[in-house]
Amino acid sequence: MTDAAPKSDFQFVAGRLCLDFANTVDYRNSPQELDQLNTYEDVIAWAEQAGIVSEADARKMKQAAKNGMRAETALRHALTLREAIYEIVSAAVNREPWPEMPVHFLNRTLRDAGGQRILAAGKDRFTWKWNAPAGHLESILWPVAQDAAELLTSDELSRVHKCSAEDCGWLFMDRSKNQSRRWCEMKNCGNRDKARRYYERVRAAD
Ligand SMILES: [Zn+2]
Repeated sequence: MTDAAPKSDFQFVAGRLCLDFANTVDYRNSPQELDQLNTYEDVIAWAEQAGIVSEADARKMKQAAKNGMRAETALRHALTLREAIYEIVSAAVNREPWPEMPVHFLNRTLRDAGGQRILAAGKDRFTWKWNAPAGHLESILWPVAQDAAELLTSDELSRVHKCSAEDCGWLFMDRSKNQSRRWCEMKNCGNRDKARRYYERVRAAD
């Protein structure tokens, strides 16, 4: 456990929970690659910011994460799930064969999650609810895996794109009418990428 405060400024630009989770690595596959999830406290902070864990649950989880062994195992599962989602969705984007181990791991998480989903009685109808004991660390992964499964089984999958900036690698939903969104975020990657291309053109003209 480090004493560093967990991150609190994650970005949610993908338009889909599971992709925002996959995007918790900055500058993917580039020499500057930077993992934003370094402790399980980071995962809890991400989940709280994503709105899938309440403040009260997050407090209990942070307490549970003080158990180093448990937190380490949970972090390993979280990162494995994240990479599984990234690899499977990337395969869809690149029209490559499905990667076997990531699909296996996602299915395993879905199996764990499936048994924890219960119907909660509401006023007019029922809703799905996650039935995790308070402070259950891995329960964060269930809605993420569920969202990935829903994406992978829907037509929305064809709307996933990878950011055009060559050092980014983030995935996002392109819900524009003519499927023209190129960057995860214009103000960040879009401008950086345009500037890079401009200087390349200038250099080429010299
Ligand atoms: Zn980007």
